[in-house]
Amino acid sequence: MAVDSTTSSPLGPPACEKDAKALQFIEDMTKNCDPVQENVLSEILSQNAATEYLQQWNLDGATDRKTFKSKVPVISYDDLLPYVNRIANGDRSPILSSHPISEFLTSSGTSAGERKLMPTIAAEMDRRQKLYSLLMPVMNLYVPGLDKGKGLYFLFIKAEAKTPSGLVARPVLTSYYKSQQFKTRPFDPYNVYTSPNETILCVDAFQSMYSQMLCGLLFREEVLRCGAVFASGLVRAIKFLQLNWQQLAMDVESGNLSNKITDSSIRECVSKILKPNPELAQFIREECCDGNWEGIITRIWPNTKYLDVIVTGAMAQYIPILDYYSGNLPKTCTMYASSECYFGLNLTPMVKPSEVCYTIMPNMGYFEFIPHDPENPVTISRDSPPQLLDLADLELGKEYELVISTYSGLCRYRVGDILQVKGFHNSAPQFKFIRRKNVLLSIDADKTDETELQAAIDNASVLLKEFNTTVVEYTSYGDTKTIPGHYVIYWELLMKDPANGPPENVLAQCCLAMEEALNSVYRQSRVADNSIGPLEIRVVKNGTFEELMDYAISRGASINQYKVPRCVTFTPIMELLDSRVVSAHFSPAAPHWTSERRF
Ligand code: AMP
Repeated sequence: MAVDSTTSSPLGPPACEKDAKALQFIEDMTKNCDPVQENVLSEILSQNAATEYLQQWNLDGATDRKTFKSKVPVISYDDLLPYVNRIANGDRSPILSSHPISEFLTSSGTSAGERKLMPTIAAEMDRRQKLYSLLMPVMNLYVPGLDKGKGLYFLFIKAEAKTPSGLVARPVLTSYYKSQQFKTRPFDPYNVYTSPNETILCVDAFQSMYSQMLCGLLFREEVLRCGAVFASGLVRAIKFLQLNWQQLAMDVESGNLSNKITDSSIRECVSKILKPNPELAQFIREECCDGNWEGIITRIWPNTKYLDVIVTGAMAQYIPILDYYSGNLPKTCTMYASSECYFGLNLTPMVKPSEVCYTIMPNMGYFEFIPHDPENPVTISRDSPPQLLDLADLELGKEYELVISTYSGLCRYRVGDILQVKGFHNSAPQFKFIRRKNVLLSIDADKTDETELQAAIDNASVLLKEFNTTVVEYTSYGDTKTIPGHYVIYWELLMKDPANGPPENVLAQCCLAMEEALNSVYRQSRVADNSIGPLEIRVVKNGTFEELMDYAISRGASINQYKVPRCVTFTPIMELLDSRVVSAHFSPAAPHWTSERRF
């Protein structure tokens, strides 16, 4: 039911009074972007004035932008690490924030192989909740009737760790799903999920996925939207259906939950909705038995109007497979967020993935921007802070690197994301997500950079020594044609004694040695989440990398400046590499991973 036109919003007619308020909030924020930002900074600086971190920059109580920009340096995680370590080890003095640090959020960005730890305070949860509360009012502008059915969302928690002083360290979504805000959320007809909380709150990835899929099947006709946070999660769910439909159909037929599900809370809640339903079981078997997965989402969930998954950035690689599974359903990218800070939302969620833009909400934190021009890089030094731009200063078409200051105590912290201004809503810029700096490979939550890949190659190379063999060149590729996707590393080898080169089992061990050296997010995805498949090494013929260089030069690259790309995505290059493969090897076992982390 549309509400009275007096409450209508420039964004469109709200679906209900609650939506009207949310849309009005978006209008207020985006019309007053600059004053809101000024106010946010002033609040952050006054709230945290007495912290050790701010005290050292001698702001002397100033809370204005000019003083802040002239005195406080722009930093990266390494600069933050000594403070983070002290908090992790139990120093409860006001180091970064005057409010107590409630927990650490573990980012999928890594430092020395471990997830980065982002301190957060309790009040941030409300700020995140506020951003979540804006998503459905925007969605309702484009898709009517979402209150008449349910959302099938595959949502997961991950294992937590504790710092030496007992603070919890966990991913931001785990923190959110375990919060009272999520668990005891009031009933909202626009936000009804098929997955009971108990199925989301089980740390065992198999049991959680199984029970969420089962509930999705039981409510199949009521499902109006399907999703996961990132596209990789939804692709994984469909793969799970491919592997487990027989057992799922058996449960549906008999009304008894498989004994593989041992979690008592899941058993209890699912038993309330699972009743023998031979007709549904037969339907599942018919749809799944012939191995044809084209359009499987719309066949099983025929009323699905859109897929709610992020397909921007690294997730764009999953667009073709999602189109295949869903018969090209629209894919909405609703939100742009990180462990450090939730940034903003997409005000036109039904646009094509290539046109998705996010509007940063100026109430979420204080945002600054470093102009990003690869031809003309800005030098950042702690002693002479560069002039960073504000949200209100940005120009259409230009690219910027995002820098944030948060209520939790991050000050001028470089997130690492490159954004491009594509338009404005009122005075708020709308950004296309261009890429994350330095990320070479990403299949799921993992983000592997060049240094990490090099360290992995070095670790594997040790095994080649006794065969008088060295890796002379390498490049990599994130192969998402397999499900789950996996890392492919192309190696050109120099064997001093080709007759005694490394045998197959040693090259397979090299795959594992590479995995062992990769960061903990990669290893967790391999071991606990099964969202990345075994790493593959493809050995190519000698001279292949020279051919690669010739090819690049024929396309205009300069001979002097040519560097071997450490990751390839361009199809002709991959075809060239694949046509020169002499042998392929896979990791024979899972790498080491535990939920314990090094502090
Ligand atoms: P994390 O620190 O693990 O929470 O990851 C946050 C990062 O994920 C962001 O800084 C982005 O690089 C990426 N990310 C988050 N949301 C989006 C989005 N909507 N589109 C593209 N990349 C995103």
